[in-house]
This record gives sequence, C-alpha cells and structure tokens, in this order.
Amino acid sequence: STQQWQAADAAHFLHPFTDFQALAKKGSRIITQAENIYLTDSDGHRILDAMSGLWCVNVGYGQQALIDAATRQLGQLPFYNAFFQTATPPAIELAELLAEVSPPGFSRVFFSGSGSEGNDTIVRMVRRYWDVLGQPQRSVILSRKNAYHGSTMAGASLGGMSGMHAQGGLPIPGIQHIEQPYWFENGGDMSREEFGRVAASWLEQKILAVGPEKVAAFIGEPVQGAGGVIVPPDSYWPEIQRICDKYGVLLVSDEVICGFGRTGHWFGCQRFGFKPDLITFAKGVTSGYIPLGGVLVGDRVAKVLIEQGGEFEHGYTYSGHPVACAVAVANIRLIQQLGLVQQVHDDTGPYLAELYKQLADHPLVVETQTCGLMAALQLGRRDGKGGGTRGQRFDESWSVGMVCRGHCFANGLIMRAVGDRMIIAPPLVITRAQIDEMAVLIRRCLDLTLQDC
Ligand code: PLP
Repeated sequence: STQQWQAADAAHFLHPFTDFQALAKKGSRIITQAENIYLTDSDGHRILDAMSGLWCVNVGYGQQALIDAATRQLGQLPFYNAFFQTATPPAIELAELLAEVSPPGFSRVFFSGSGSEGNDTIVRMVRRYWDVLGQPQRSVILSRKNAYHGSTMAGASLGGMSGMHAQGGLPIPGIQHIEQPYWFENGGDMSREEFGRVAASWLEQKILAVGPEKVAAFIGEPVQGAGGVIVPPDSYWPEIQRICDKYGVLLVSDEVICGFGRTGHWFGCQRFGFKPDLITFAKGVTSGYIPLGGVLVGDRVAKVLIEQGGEFEHGYTYSGHPVACAVAVANIRLIQQLGLVQQVHDDTGPYLAELYKQLADHPLVVETQTCGLMAALQLGRRDGKGGGTRGQRFDESWSVGMVCRGHCFANGLIMRAVGDRMIIAPPLVITRAQIDEMAVLIRRCLDLTLQDC
C-alpha cells in the first residue's frame, strides 16, 4: 500500500536535495507507472508531467524502441569497459551518431555516467588542454552565480548555488563566478538587449581582474535551467563568444538540459548562435531511460589532446556503457524519426509561447519566459510594494512557489518551483491539445495560489 511504501521510504531512502525530516513527516508521493506524458501514483492518480521527470524524458514514457534496445543489449552484452583498448558496438555507434547530430566542428565524444561527471571531465580536460600547450597557469574556470552544473565536487563548484557551496567548503580552488543574465532581477531600466550586452561585459571584467593569461575556460548553460529557466537576451551569447575569442578562453556549453531538442534546436548553442569548444550532455541523450552523460569535444581541443596529449588519465567504469549507449542510439533515432526537434521549433514551442503570453495577464504573474519547450512564470505583486529591484517580490517568509507547487501536485500537474518562479519543461512529444490541457491546469493552480495570498 502507499502507507507501506512511505514508511519504508522514510526509514531507508535518503532523497537528493531533500530535508529528510520534513519529508518523513509528509510522506513521499510514490510514482508507479508512466505513459506518454502522464505519470500514475500508487493511489491511481494521473499526473501530467510538465517537468519530463527531471528535464530528461524528451521522447515521453513507454517508448518501445528504447525498451527493446535495452533488453536486446542486456541479453547480448550487458557490460564491457573501454579501458583496455576495447570498445563495444553500441558505444562506437553512438559516438558516430552524436557526431552526426552535433554542431559542425564536433566529431569526438568522451562518455560519462551523468551530467555531473561530464562537468568533472570538463574541468580536467580544459586544464589538461592548457597543460599540453605549455600554459599550466591557465587553470581558472569562470562560471556564473545561480548556475547548476551538478553535485560532484567539481560540478557543484562550477555551479553557482550558494547553498551548495556552504555545505562542504566549495568551490574547489580555481573556480570563480560572475553574475547571471537575469534581466527581471538585475536589468533595472535597461532593455533586454542592452542588458544582455552589459551582463556579458561582466565576463570581460572578470577575465581582466583574474588576468587573461590565467583563465582557462568559461562555462554556462545556454538557458539556466535549475536556476529558474533564466532565458538570456539574444544579445548575450554572441557577446560572450566575442569576449572568449578575444582572450583565447575556451567556451563550454553545458547542454545537459538544453541538448537534444529542448530549445527547438539539437543544442541550445545553436538557438543562441554561439560556437562552443566543448559541450556537456546527459539527460535527453537517453531521454532519462538509463543514465548516460559525457562531453562533446570540438576540433580545437580534440586536436591538441589527440595529437600532443598522450594518455588522458581520466575515465569512469561506465564510460561508454553498452546498454546505455544502445538506448541512446534508439532514442536519438526516434527523435529523428518523429521530427521532434523541428516540431518544437515550428509548432509546439511557438504554441507554448502564445499560451504563456496569455498567462501573463494573471494577477499573480509578473513575467513569463519561454524558449522552445522550457518556460517560467515569475510570480509576484503588481503593486510595486514588494521586494527586489522591481518591487514585485513577495516577502521571502511566504514561499509562494511552494504554495503553487502544492496546488499543482494536488491537481494532477507536476511543475517545479524555483523560489518564486514556476518552471516547466514538458516531454517534446507533447501535442497542442496536451499543451492546452496543461495551460488550463496551470491557470487553475495559479487561481488557487492567489486565493492563498
Ligand atoms: N548540468 C546541468 C545544466 C544540469 O541541469 C544538471 C542536472 O540537472 C547537471 C549538469 C548534472 O547532471 P546529473 O544530475 O546527471 O549529474
């Protein structure tokens, strides 16, 4: 029964990013099944999953092609490593397929088991790159506040979440942060485009403060996801690119969320018009059916590592895991067959944007943002008598996001709250009719939250 699951859960399972005592008092919601974009819990409730699990189930639940690929590979060869100058056919096939769907200039991949491990690989790889070039002093990696790059020591250090840094003495040495391009909070009276250029200039200021000869790389998510779906102004990334080029700094795009169609392009850097040297990926590469991540290595770095680098002393037991790779191949081919990237670009992305414009009239909503199939509602007060630079922030003692999330949960909708921003990233297979259904639920939950104000 649900109660039995909850009791065993509370007794034994330490959940990630969770206040253990609070959860034990409340009891977990037990998810038992899923199909397409809907989850079912242990009490038989149907829930529309507007978060694709955790930004990952791009092709939706229950796709037989992925299930078959996993089962076939488990029977044939469930594991073999890539350490002993050995490789398995699924890993090779995936590496080749990734080169096909990646932006031009990317033909190599280093596999990991997750996005966090992918970003640890980034730290070691960029430092190795500069070492090989005889510039070991170029070791500082710049990142942004409020970024999320994972939970390993290096991933959490690259990330800019102050709560995470406070637990465990982070960041590790050699990682520094600049402000994020969060127009709603930091834009003042500037237009979005003007603010985008100003926010990018903070990178140049930081490079000059550290000393260009010490800066190895800059890393950012095309759209900050876990930070609250902070969509940067279009002027931001091209300017970041120009600054990195000017000082020879490697540019890293963390596409763990934005990759594999989320923004209506295969990769978010293509949506925002920049050309990174390295790309971290995970999540959507297998639609979350099985763990897999890694780094797409662009020609500039690959050439140095391969031709001059010798052994790169780094790797994971599960680098190129054959079952994970077989699922990824099936997943990418399915995304291609269903034309999901184009569909998000031409149809469902613009449709969601239209509906979100309409949600902007809700009395609780002070800003809406969408990018492909990811979106945010900034909740706040319209009377300008609250906090924040626009006077629209609710008092922090009242966690409006959590109240709204509670109403969503009770009404068959999974939406995530990041402070006072409500965010979604539904599966890319979502139809227009399902987007309508989701928008009705969202409005209902906003109305219920308003009644609590
Ligand atoms: N990078 C980004 C942008 C993410 O959103 C995440 C996870 O949400 C990660 C890295 C870490 O990935 P993982 O949880 O697979 O380690």
